[in-house]
Amino acid sequence: MTPLVQLGPLAVAPSRPVPQSGPMADGFGRRIEYLRISVTDKCNLRCVYCMPEEGLPWMKREQILRYEEIAEVVRVMADLGLRRIRLTGGEPLVRRDLSSLVRMIRAVPGIDDVALSTNAVLLADQADALRDAGVDRVNVSLDSLRPERIDAISRRPGSAEAIFRGLKAAERAGFGPIKVNCVVMRGRNDDEVADFAAVTRERPWHVRFIEVMPTGDNLGVQADEFVSADEMLERVGQTGDLRPVAGPGGNGPARYFAFPGAAGTVGVITPMSHNYCERCNRMRLTADGQLRPCLFGHLQTNLRDPLRRGEPLEPLIRHTLAVKPERHWLEHGTAAGSGGLRALSEVGG
Ligand code: SAM
Ligand code: SF4
Repeated sequence: MTPLVQLGPLAVAPSRPVPQSGPMADGFGRRIEYLRISVTDKCNLRCVYCMPEEGLPWMKREQILRYEEIAEVVRVMADLGLRRIRLTGGEPLVRRDLSSLVRMIRAVPGIDDVALSTNAVLLADQADALRDAGVDRVNVSLDSLRPERIDAISRRPGSAEAIFRGLKAAERAGFGPIKVNCVVMRGRNDDEVADFAAVTRERPWHVRFIEVMPTGDNLGVQADEFVSADEMLERVGQTGDLRPVAGPGGNGPARYFAFPGAAGTVGVITPMSHNYCERCNRMRLTADGQLRPCLFGHLQTNLRDPLRRGEPLEPLIRHTLAVKPERHWLEHGTAAGSGGLRALSEVGG
């Protein structure tokens, strides 16, 4: 397996010409206006498809960007056309006072959408503060509707209760309609796709079924328990007249469907079976300040050290756009295409 490498300030890779001024675009003409920021690599759960039970070698405190540093990266990128931010991790709510980061980001001219991805374990206590600080939307990971299964998949008994409280608090705080992300695995939760879809008839949830992707630490689960989105949709389709719909705003990778008259939608995210990289509009910033042009692969540009030395970031950002690959090359059951990643939590899923 290729180790995750930091290639000095500039990632070395085949590069294509990109605009050196004006809005950010990559070498394939894709406009980049969306940044996913991982605020921590740590997590209070150990989902079987994500992290090993014993955790991972965590980043050291001094390696991790301070909130002021994250906000500075956002300011520089907003001048280059960045419009939307998602805070993720690891679990973003384990980082202290996330609301203060949200306020800093909201104050950046040009940023008009701030979203959060969370497992919701700590959301009940923080939902109102996050809403007041300016979070527009939340995505909640929920891999089962049955408490004992949530506890088993997350390997943290007792988490289900906190997650359901978190979901309620999010709805009360005005985050609806909420996107619910469910990673579907054969033998663990695949028999619940119809139950999840049934919830969307009554509640304004956008349930998105995700195909499990291979990383260095989940190859057994990924190879043995993979379920394709086509199979998920076929099962849901047996329970009603599921039709394609536009879905909620935000040009993410999901394709959406709905039952007639339903309050919510059913979406699928298909990194394995139907590649959607040609619509990619994003880059990622890891908790330790590496700018990644793609979720997968070994490419990342160190912004943290130049930022701490007071050097300009724009050339490094343009360079990262120039090496953004056309697509990912994931393959079932092998970490080859994930480029040395052990878990998505290392870079922000
Ligand atoms: N902890 C937060 C959460 O769970 O929502 C944010 C980080 S998590 C890495 C972001 C998303 O990635 C979650 O929806 C999670 O289910 C998904 N994810 C993690 N590992 C995955 C994998 N190997 N394949 C597919 N989705 C994965
Ligand atoms: Fe934590 Fe999210 Fe990974 Fe689950 S998917 S272990 S909640 S980072």
